[in-house]
Amino acid sequence: MDRYCVFGNPIAHSKSPEIHAAFAAQTGQELTYEKRLAPVDGFAAAVQAFIAEGGLGANVTVPFKLDAVKVAQALTIRARAAGAVNTLHFTEDGIVGDNTDGAGLVADIVGNAGVPITGKRVLLLGAGGAARGVVLPILEHRPAQLVIANRTVATAEALAEQFAALGGEGVVSACGYGDIEGAFDIVINATSASLSAELPPVSPSVFAPGALALDMMYGASPTVFLQFAGQHGARLRDGLGMLVEQAAEAFSLWRGVHPATAGVLQSLRAKL
Ligand code: NDP
Repeated sequence: MDRYCVFGNPIAHSKSPEIHAAFAAQTGQELTYEKRLAPVDGFAAAVQAFIAEGGLGANVTVPFKLDAVKVAQALTIRARAAGAVNTLHFTEDGIVGDNTDGAGLVADIVGNAGVPITGKRVLLLGAGGAARGVVLPILEHRPAQLVIANRTVATAEALAEQFAALGGEGVVSACGYGDIEGAFDIVINATSASLSAELPPVSPSVFAPGALALDMMYGASPTVFLQFAGQHGARLRDGLGMLVEQAAEAFSLWRGVHPATAGVLQSLRAKL
């Protein structure tokens, strides 16, 4: 049986085994997918052990996405742009590191929510690992504007600078929360503020009429950010769709077949 896993620490909460089992059943692929708790200082050894056991690929979650960059012998363009790896593929030519988080987010916005990014004004809150991973996939859809706002403004500025040439003249910019100007069609919360029930200090005026507000976090009840966005007329979306879509991208990389995601997302949502 072909073997895959997800590495993390902690890992007990991971929904990835359930998602990949559903994809495998749906596409008729014979494989196993397990959770692996790697020691915080032992990620590389855990990967080598899994390869020695015949593992063909792995997902990588907190706190190992940067360690995974070092373990990989080759990086895809999007992994290099993100500076982080969430998917490893163990090939005959070595370990390939990919990052499917950004593609997952974009697939959820465009495919599942039905909101095109092309020509739209996009506000990205946060400039950490998750934010870094989504900038390239967003720019590939040619938004009219991408503003990256962060508490630590210098981090947002560095990120905007990295992608300025790719975005085109004046498309990508950075600022602090208090300096955001105008209204946006898509507002993405890529901060970890929701984990501590905090709200990035943005003005309600950032939500254009009919805006889509997406929080990368997910859970049984809406985050404080989604509650705030809802009070100001935005359409709401949590990070569960992104989670399922990034898994579908990884599955497709490993197995060469892209699974359908709607039913899997629906059944996960029912269990939240
Ligand atoms: P990082 O630790 O790399 O970055 C954290 C970011 O949040 C930074 O920009 C930080 O700002 C900002 N931040 C933290 N606390 C606050 C606060 N109280 N107010 C304002 N800004 C704050 O985390 P990640 O980028 O890895 O993860 C971010 C979120 O994305 C997490 O909730 C994670 O669960 C989620 N995620 C979801 C995925 C999915 O599939 N749905 C996939 C990946 C991530 P500063 O730079 O100033 O410190």
